Amino acid sequence: MSTAKRLFLLQFGAERVPKALSLAGGPPELYWEPLTGALVETSAGWVLLDTGMSRAAHEDAEATAAYELAGRDAPNLDHEWRLAPRPPDAAGWNWILDGDPVATALAEHGLAPEDLHLAAVSHLHIDHSGGIPTLARAGVPVAIQRRELAFARSGAVGVAEGFFEPDWTEPGTVWRELDGDAELAPGVHAVATPGHTPGHMSFRVDLEDSGSWLFTADATDLAQNFLDHVPCGSWAGGTDEDAAAASSSLDRLVSLAAGGVRLVPGHDQVIANTARHPRGGHR
Ligand SMILES: [Zn+2]
Repeated sequence: MSTAKRLFLLQFGAERVPKALSLAGGPPELYWEPLTGALVETSAGWVLLDTGMSRAAHEDAEATAAYELAGRDAPNLDHEWRLAPRPPDAAGWNWILDGDPVATALAEHGLAPEDLHLAAVSHLHIDHSGGIPTLARAGVPVAIQRRELAFARSGAVGVAEGFFEPDWTEPGTVWRELDGDAELAPGVHAVATPGHTPGHMSFRVDLEDSGSWLFTADATDLAQNFLDHVPCGSWAGGTDEDAAAASSSLDRLVSLAAGGVRLVPGHDQVIANTARHPRGGHR
């Protein structure tokens, strides 16, 4: 089995969403959720997994209104942030890193967007697709499931549903379209986990010392999805088939995790804080 060299966990910002969006049948309380990603050094070069939210999306009135609408019935609108990293402005609905968040996150590791060999995006929701335009302008190819890109382009969903069009319409974006599972680079794999969106995927990273890591993105936002065996709380496609796919994807991740894989849910601040950052990265 070929392995990757090093792994760094990234946080691009955080968003406030009702817990019910992360956990099917969950409560309406707002929950601070980190925008996470992973940076992997491989024998082919650096690979970025997920890209956070763009500054344009963060400052977009329609996008902010969509977040506020989703949280309007939350009984804990005035709740406080209790974990590190603390938001620079806790009064804002969400927060992101300074400047261009994806470039800022890479710069923390001494890299520029141009230094990447490849990026991959789990799905085209606003909190994952934000770095694509920056990467496209840097000439970095972007791996995406073919179904996901087709769904976004279909016009069936927009900002109100969490799809921010400027992220995936940047001219010159070099898409690497996938059909299900695929090896992205030595030791880095796409794992098809549809349901949350029609072309949602997770990522597996295999390392020499620490073994396999499973980045589940929004198939399971939280550790609690695994503990309670409850799938994500929303499916963008909106059909019974999507709901069934979300449950099947959870089952798939649980069975993949059975062999001692390190699980990293897409939006769990405690897990994110626990897993990052050993000096020099995980090996
Ligand atoms: Zn998300």
